[in-house]
Amino acid sequence: MKPSRHAALLFFLIFVTFQANAASAPKLVIYLVYDQLRADLLTVNKPRFLPSKSGSQLGGFNYLVENSSYFPFAEYDVMSSMTCPGHAIIATGSWPIHTGIAVNDWYSRSKNRREYCVDDDMFGMSPRKLKTTTISDEYKNADFPSKVYAIALKDRSGIMLGGHRADAAFWFDEKKWSWQSSTYYPNARPPWMDELNSKVSPRVPDVSLLKQIWGSQRTLDLADQILNKEKLGQGKATDFLFISFSAHDKAGHTYGPNSDEMKKMIVDEDRELSGFLNNLKKKFNLEKDVLIVLTGDHGIPPSPDYSIKNKIKAEYIDEIQVVQKIYKKLNEVYDTSSKNEWFKAIESMHYHVNWDLVSKMKINRREFLENVKSIAKELDVAEEVIVPELFSKNDLMSPRIKKQIENSYVEDQWGDLIMMPKPFSFPFEKGRKADHVSGYSYDKMVPLLFAGAAFKKQIFYSKAYIVDIHPTMAALLGIIPSPKVDGRILDEIFKK
Ligand SMILES: [Zn+2]
Repeated sequence: MKPSRHAALLFFLIFVTFQANAASAPKLVIYLVYDQLRADLLTVNKPRFLPSKSGSQLGGFNYLVENSSYFPFAEYDVMSSMTCPGHAIIATGSWPIHTGIAVNDWYSRSKNRREYCVDDDMFGMSPRKLKTTTISDEYKNADFPSKVYAIALKDRSGIMLGGHRADAAFWFDEKKWSWQSSTYYPNARPPWMDELNSKVSPRVPDVSLLKQIWGSQRTLDLADQILNKEKLGQGKATDFLFISFSAHDKAGHTYGPNSDEMKKMIVDEDRELSGFLNNLKKKFNLEKDVLIVLTGDHGIPPSPDYSIKNKIKAEYIDEIQVVQKIYKKLNEVYDTSSKNEWFKAIESMHYHVNWDLVSKMKINRREFLENVKSIAKELDVAEEVIVPELFSKNDLMSPRIKKQIENSYVEDQWGDLIMMPKPFSFPFEKGRKADHVSGYSYDKMVPLLFAGAAFKKQIFYSKAYIVDIHPTMAALLGIIPSPKVDGRILDEIFKK
């Protein structure tokens, strides 16, 4: 082949590829995140969901599963599966070591106080603790005139998904009984919001409704308002709407995943999703113009009640008792009968040592950590007791936990001692039947699907991590991913 013809062919190929990319840029990207959507919820309930299509009516989950690139068992590879870190990972494509969000609440070493992932001294609430950029941040960084909205009953879910450059994130304030936002956002008080809030029924707070399908219905009311009033998907660039369904998680904690309430909840959510998709279909050429990503922020174990009844070893860990036992042993070791508070704080299974006391008693720091680690191990409540200061990659430890530690380490948030519970166990908290705190399969596995013109309609059992969403979407949109991206482009799902 002559060089000139080669160049022409190359130009033709580049042009065709560019055309293909331009053609596949959707008008609207919608993320649907179900809070506590464990991977098997979409597989075992399939027969109970609406059919994929009946006549011109679209179903809910089955429609999306059958019209998408679907990974039934995608994974978070983190030590603690939780809402705030989960939503940050979905949006940024980075593990907690890079997002700076390892848990929802923590005790900050540097500030000596308890912190929440989205609280902010200046704005009340903001995404400013998030240490990297989200997919819509990067899209806006490429100067596309895009609109970005993120909503959820929970403040942390919408705020993390929307990132630094969202036009607004909205959440449902349980006390004010209305949708709220933060002055951090340019469109925190859109003119239509008062009217929507005046229609929230009942008018008086009833928090039990937030654990029912009512919570998802109100979330979708707000989604419809934003689509209509802010004219999403009607501009020159791709717009983003991030929706997280918090009611599922609130109910799951109260009733446990094997309860009748949760078996009904997922079916109700399927009906609501179907309604939402059929509405979208009236406004858009759904397959061509709208790209939908669906996933969960974490899973959930069965409640220990359920496990024990069915001969699976499990327990609700009584952390007060654990601490009392550790204190008693430490008092023996250091020959003191006084009532010493050996820990300064305990948050999300992270134990912070009271170092003032340790140095006052002239105890060697390393020796103290080794003692407290072996005492904690002897209690036999933890699968693994992790002490970051003593941690060495040569430690004999499950490779799974080692990887999860590496992905999740945030120095300011981590305790001196972390007690990883045994499978099916977790710390007891009043009013909660089940809790997700670990990196075990039931907590880390969630479904992941991509529905849209660019993607194959196929089931993939290959490994996919939630950090892969961001780079895959960045590739589709033709933009660079966030600076500290950890995922890969899921190349196998693109139509070639
Ligand atoms: Zn939860």
